[in-house]
Amino acid sequence: MENTKGKELKQKLFLNKKVGWDDLKEGENEAIFRFADEYMYYLNQSKTEKEIIKTSKEILIKNGFVDLSEKEVLHPGDKVFFINKDRNVYAAVIGEGKLVDGFNMIAAHADSPRIDLKPRPLYEDNEIALFKTHYYGGIKKYQWTNIPLALHGLAVRKNGEKVNIVIGEENDDPIFTISDLLPHLAREQMQKKLADGVEGEELNVLVGSIPYEDEEISERVKLNILNILFERYGLTEEDLISSEMEFVPAFKARSLGFDSSMVAAYGQDDKICCYAALRGIIEVEKPQRTAICVLTDREEVGFDGVTGMFSQIFDTFVAELLNKTNENFPNALQKTFMNSKALSADVDAAYNPSFSYAFEKNNTAYLGKGITLVKYTGAGGKSGSSEAPAELMAEVRRIFERAEARYQAGELGRVDKGGGGTIALTLANRGINVVDAGVPVMGMHSPYEITSKYDVYQAFKGYREFYKG
Ligand code: MN
Ligand code: MN
Repeated sequence: MENTKGKELKQKLFLNKKVGWDDLKEGENEAIFRFADEYMYYLNQSKTEKEIIKTSKEILIKNGFVDLSEKEVLHPGDKVFFINKDRNVYAAVIGEGKLVDGFNMIAAHADSPRIDLKPRPLYEDNEIALFKTHYYGGIKKYQWTNIPLALHGLAVRKNGEKVNIVIGEENDDPIFTISDLLPHLAREQMQKKLADGVEGEELNVLVGSIPYEDEEISERVKLNILNILFERYGLTEEDLISSEMEFVPAFKARSLGFDSSMVAAYGQDDKICCYAALRGIIEVEKPQRTAICVLTDREEVGFDGVTGMFSQIFDTFVAELLNKTNENFPNALQKTFMNSKALSADVDAAYNPSFSYAFEKNNTAYLGKGITLVKYTGAGGKSGSSEAPAELMAEVRRIFERAEARYQAGELGRVDKGGGGTIALTLANRGINVVDAGVPVMGMHSPYEITSKYDVYQAFKGYREFYKG
């Protein structure tokens, strides 16, 4: 068919809305599926914030990065990392130019919503032992009932000895679950608002039902569980006070759909951006500006805390880079921040055809259309967010186009439907120019989140170029 004048004009002036699968580059199909397999392998090793930091550290070391403490002086091309309390990693490739002239950074978060234990979790009710829990992050509580849960925990004994526990990931491991009320007796529950259908204090995890064999005592099932914990891990009930026990879905990451085009997995918010950012930085060699990759923690609860993105430990890391590149002076850190730019690499909500009413179709992200550039997050009249300047948006568009990384623009759902924030503002408040650029996710914060294999590969290509640009 011949191109009419109108057709040509439309092609020139309209935004390209084609799905990425229709627009693959030479060899890209194979590259996408290979990358997705590697990504799913990473997910299965990295369910908690501490595990993802451990896995990521191994990847960095394998690719020539060394602990910052091992370097007295830093030179262009040096690759270093700093681990903050086993819950953050900051990695850098030193640039040819001065650090004080700014760095290019990509920051993603390693924590995901989950079910934590309370400090005194274990109790017995009619010969059933349960754990009391306190959920972490914004969840729809009913989604976390009746699914297999795995326990990933760290307990620290009074003397400082650490005990790591993972139960429920191997095929012959037992799993745990939170049992919801049966429909037959749920007439009252079903009249409640969805948000109150399962309440926080009802998220109790089933952990055992065999009593300890001495019939002379009370709470025999609880004793039996404590005895198992003591025999296997040397832990007493009191030791649980100094522990971080996290229940996460026991599901493995799986390909989704007849065409295997999607990934279904727990915790893709924001491990998908962690992986793309990490894979990007290991391919950076002698950039002009220093490249920094950050995997942070506590994003799901508001960025605060010693391992959150508001923590000054990040500032200390950059100051240490300035010391070791021999550039430090009294306000060098502030100047460095002022000259730097960053991508807040966090996921965005993907359009869900079954709940189309929550999305504004022109300004939402779609699975399979690439990285989502989000100029502002927040709620209501853009409150609770930073907003990226148009100049930075244009620069990032240039970088992504150079990388042949497909991107789309969007915001989180319809105006006034809700909202959410990212770490972008923690960087913007430091003086770093920042824009959100992440991967769209369907069913965010649910136990099984969905992404497109096309999109994670675009993020990797785009991020890798951003470090260099
Ligand atoms: Mn996130
Ligand atoms: Mn989130």
